[in-house]
Amino acid sequence: MAYDPYKALYLHIPFCVKRCGYCDFATQAVERDAPVIDEYVESLVMDIRRASKEGKLGALETVYLGGGTPSHIGMGRLSSLLYALAMSMHLEPEVECTMEANPESLTEAMVRDIWALGVNRLSLGVQSFDDAVLRILGRAHDGDGARRAIAAAQTRFQNVSVDLMCGIPGQSAESFAESVREAVALGATHVSVYPLTIEPHTPFDRAVMRGEMAEPDEDTEAEAMEGARRILEGAGFHRYEVASYARPGFESRHNTAYWTGVPYLGIGRSAVTMTQNAERRMRVQDGRVVDDLGARQMAAEDLMLSMRMARGVSDERVARATVVLGDETACAVFDELVALGLAEHRDGRWRPTERGWLCGNELYGRLLDLAP
Ligand code: SF4
Repeated sequence: MAYDPYKALYLHIPFCVKRCGYCDFATQAVERDAPVIDEYVESLVMDIRRASKEGKLGALETVYLGGGTPSHIGMGRLSSLLYALAMSMHLEPEVECTMEANPESLTEAMVRDIWALGVNRLSLGVQSFDDAVLRILGRAHDGDGARRAIAAAQTRFQNVSVDLMCGIPGQSAESFAESVREAVALGATHVSVYPLTIEPHTPFDRAVMRGEMAEPDEDTEAEAMEGARRILEGAGFHRYEVASYARPGFESRHNTAYWTGVPYLGIGRSAVTMTQNAERRMRVQDGRVVDDLGARQMAAEDLMLSMRMARGVSDERVARATVVLGDETACAVFDELVALGLAEHRDGRWRPTERGWLCGNELYGRLLDLAP
């Protein structure tokens, strides 16, 4: 059986100016003029052209250049990549094309050039506007750098997303709330809010093990997330996913594709490709199959992913999943989630509650358990 066309494309740029203390992403700190970046970009361009020849780019609706730090590689290399994309697919204004950038490497000139080459959404890794917090995180920018980057982005882009982080040891509740307020005041149209997690083998992990850093406190993080919700909703943003807030019309279509079971193509080191048809879903990373799901597991995963989104899942989708899963357990599990306060049922849809999002592991785990 043929596979469904890819609707989303992710391009990974695995380079940063320095490594942040908490980061476990696939990236390395290299000088901006390092030849390794040129070689990598060249191979990405070849991969893009190859994917185009193989007919994989014909139905794309979103493109995302992520990292790492795409802005770190400089405009010359970004031009090659964006030009190769424009020659290989229909990079029209209807296609959402996002680039991640960090404040220390985003310039006004770069903003003008990437916009002219088809990027129409910028996602800025700000994390905080508080210099003391940024130093703890080991970020390469300060608060003023972040403010400058947002202003630079807005010389061309209306669609500017700001990432913020809470639960950082040494970050007060007021410092975090002030960063959320500042992102709103500076005119961000989309804000992502993430609690810090201590990933294995990172400098933060080692500091926690040595007793030099306190582990993030779950209750503090939950309060911070709740505080962010109040500020952002009060300012006219709506929370459309557990960590994502947008002004109406500025929701990330690319990220939504990940949460709605849409096939995506990943190009570059560590980028994941998800290929599927009605019977099978496979995820492949660096040539290795990392996930191979049958129809029942796909149905359970789709229910789980839907509950990351505020709109949740419709009765009809649950009924369809029930047919695939082969018994009535899907409905029973949703009833159980309601009894546990993790979900609610209204207007023909099952939606996550605030508590459901805070206890995400339990909510998502119960749905995945429908087809282990
Ligand atoms: S800038 Fe982002 S990708 Fe790069 S090291 Fe820091 S957290 Fe990781």
